[in-house]
Amino acid sequence: MAGRYEIGSQGSTTLIMICTALIIIILAAISTDIGYGAAARYSLQKNALAVAKDGAQILVKSNRNEAIEYMKKSSVLKVNDLNLLEVDVLQDSRKITITMGKPFKYIFLKYIGFRKTQIKETISVRLLNISKVKGARPFGIREDKIKLSKNIILSDKSEKSKDLVEISILDFNKGDIETNILYGNREYVEVGEKLMQMSNIDYVNIKRSLDCVMNRCKHKPKCTYSEYEKSCESIIILPVFKNQAKNNEISITGFAGFLVEGCEIKNNGLYIKGSFLEDKFEGVASENAQDFGMYGLRIMK
Ligand SMILES: [Zn+2]
Repeated sequence: MAGRYEIGSQGSTTLIMICTALIIIILAAISTDIGYGAAARYSLQKNALAVAKDGAQILVKSNRNEAIEYMKKSSVLKVNDLNLLEVDVLQDSRKITITMGKPFKYIFLKYIGFRKTQIKETISVRLLNISKVKGARPFGIREDKIKLSKNIILSDKSEKSKDLVEISILDFNKGDIETNILYGNREYVEVGEKLMQMSNIDYVNIKRSLDCVMNRCKHKPKCTYSEYEKSCESIIILPVFKNQAKNNEISITGFAGFLVEGCEIKNNGLYIKGSFLEDKFEGVASENAQDFGMYGLRIMK
């Protein structure tokens, strides 16, 4: 009796070990497949975002239909086995929504009968105006004077000329004027911020710094309004403002991108030649800023 009992005990111990091992294997298979599934979803989301970013760039430079066309083609090239694709662009709010779906084949769970499932990811991004930047230059543009086009002259003198856009030299309260012209303000400057307009301007110093900025474009041929490198150091970011009612204070309402193509000092005034660029830039984008051609991408939840 005792012998049979021992044999039975050994058998059930073995059975328990086998069952435990099987459960561990199944759990490992499930968690591995869950891990792979999560990775596949993450990759799908990453691809959708990359497509939306490129699409946003096209939306800035072209129109809704071209952006949609591009994003559809690009999605198919980027993602294998894509079996669901919806691309939507709301022109007015500049909102892009992409839904991508594809089958996900189980790697281990297929041995216990699960073959595949469908994964689906939706992302939404919006092109908004830049409302906060680092590296802004101390030339503020009056918002009622701005003309977003090429062959513009920025000047701190008001003159009756159709190409002239009036600017004010601003005091960032930090760093000296030459450093702020050469490298831009090191701190963030944002919409709503109030700054003072500068008086006692040292034009010789300003011109020396500006010449350097213009000569920083090392691209061949040199960057122009119609063809430029986005990383070009001759592109500067300028605050746009509206005048406050009293004294020399201004309030920032947005930002504009400007390609510097020339600079001169005459009649005790500053004249900067160049073009406003309407494009996607680095910076914090929000609904607070007004539209002066500088866009940034915001991922919507
Ligand atoms: Zn350049």
